[in-house]
Amino acid sequence: MAEVDIVIRGGTLVDGTGTEPRQADVVIDNGVIVEVGTVTAKGREEIDAKGLLVTPGWVDIHTHYDGQATWDERMTPSSIHGTTTVVMGNCGVGFAPVRKSDHDTLIRLMEGVEDIPGAALHEGLSWNWESFGDYMDQLEARPRDIDVAAQIPHGALRVYVMGERGAKREPATEAEIAQMRDLVREGIEAGALGFSTTRTMVHRTADGDLTPTVGAADAEMIAIAHGLKDAGAGVLQWVSDFKEIDHEFGLITQLVEISGRPLSFSMVQADVVPDQWRELTRRLDEAAGKGLPIRAQVQGRPVGLMLGLQGSVHPFVTRPSYAAIAHLPLAERVEIMRDPAFRAKMLAEAPQAGHPFVNSLAGAYNKMFDLGNPPNYEPAPEDSIGARAKASGENPDEIVYDILTANGGNGFLFFPLHNYTDFNLDNTLTMMRNPNTLFGLSDGGAHVGAICDVSVPTYMLSHWCRDRTRGEKLELPFVVKSQTRDTAEAMGLLDRGLIAPGYKADVNVIDFERLQLRPPHMVYDLPSGARRLMQEADGYVVTIASGEVIYRDGQHTGALPGKLVRGHKAAPAA
Ligand SMILES: [Zn+2]
Repeated sequence: MAEVDIVIRGGTLVDGTGTEPRQADVVIDNGVIVEVGTVTAKGREEIDAKGLLVTPGWVDIHTHYDGQATWDERMTPSSIHGTTTVVMGNCGVGFAPVRKSDHDTLIRLMEGVEDIPGAALHEGLSWNWESFGDYMDQLEARPRDIDVAAQIPHGALRVYVMGERGAKREPATEAEIAQMRDLVREGIEAGALGFSTTRTMVHRTADGDLTPTVGAADAEMIAIAHGLKDAGAGVLQWVSDFKEIDHEFGLITQLVEISGRPLSFSMVQADVVPDQWRELTRRLDEAAGKGLPIRAQVQGRPVGLMLGLQGSVHPFVTRPSYAAIAHLPLAERVEIMRDPAFRAKMLAEAPQAGHPFVNSLAGAYNKMFDLGNPPNYEPAPEDSIGARAKASGENPDEIVYDILTANGGNGFLFFPLHNYTDFNLDNTLTMMRNPNTLFGLSDGGAHVGAICDVSVPTYMLSHWCRDRTRGEKLELPFVVKSQTRDTAEAMGLLDRGLIAPGYKADVNVIDFERLQLRPPHMVYDLPSGARRLMQEADGYVVTIASGEVIYRDGQHTGALPGKLVRGHKAAPAA
């Protein structure tokens, strides 16, 4: 009897094709799945998966580990949540190509757009690269837990070619546009999976300026599309407010036609334009009808801010009494805040002017919730702080104060920024079911002081396939396929995302009954001791990457089989 590396025996296989779950053993040898079915092979490691789900590892196409991947061996929180491939370099921000003189500019850009502490980036980034290819070589030289793939960020590219004029959003000359085209081709040839840009007014640098790429001329974007065509590979990733929807959609259509490459853009339901997603969906369907590969990245959860004493923001940061203690360590702050006299004084104060977003939070108590444990990401309107205050006759400030100071100051308020206009997730369900959307937007590695949507792949199973009570659920095979085969295919990674012979052995063994998110919490483990939100889950029994067990019952095994993915990957030969 042949001996192989691993046999996962007797599990319920949800293989990524979207077909019904079935009982099957899975044999892994030399990093590859070699057999699926009832097998006689004996594994050097035997994993008893009776009563457990066996799925491909998740492929997360929207992350921002561009810095972390250069200093950290572990791509957490993603790898904790069964994700075995992350694609970074999204939203036009990243760290290559770069000249020495522009290190600071790119840090300010990443800090502002993605809320990654500048101090961590200053300390963590070695900057021993200039070209995108150099950056790829640096990534390749490091071992890590899971696979990473990179895209060329337009922000870095523009600053590289144009210097300060690029950062200040001045128009590029013809020669500069031609250089961008060449560099995009070179980057793709060096193994970038695509090119990303942002055109939204929401993304700002740490100095509050618009990002370099907002308002980039059509001619510049068209030249970049030609760069992808020259390379004959790569995808386009796009963030826009779609204010001038005819022009924006017309432009992305043109870019897809010129490059012959697929494009995806971020889509949420924003309260200020609650019907825009319907119009975008209509246009997506129309484009698909013409055979154009344009998709929207959507998320099955609100894009939610976590407001807490340890986070970037909470409703009291502009109260004078709080401002006076804001610098103190958490335990000291909580102790002071537990003093009834301090509480009464602070709650009687008016917020200071000058922080419009924070001060608007205090008026938003009808859309603010106690996240709770287990965390509830689809709370009912009657659970809001505002509704609770109305029902109990309390002052909503008091309820908020008590949540923030509970549990040693580790309590979080949940403020759904997008995808929660109607106080439920029915619209995101419609988005996810549309064949022209992709699961995305986890933003892993980013927004570390206020958002922790990197856990969404876990939530997709626990909430949408099991726990949801406020509407329809989703089918397990559909969810698994959507975050494995579909996302892998969208990035041209045809070697993964399925459990079938010849495919890369990225596998999760999951105790579905027990699968549960823990509440997010703050850790201080970024370079320079900077903070980031962390979130764990129970129920991942084993996660296997490239044929090695990297996590067992939530504990990292020390294995670091992850690689830099260079370029698209072909499907295994039949
Ligand atoms: Zn992003």
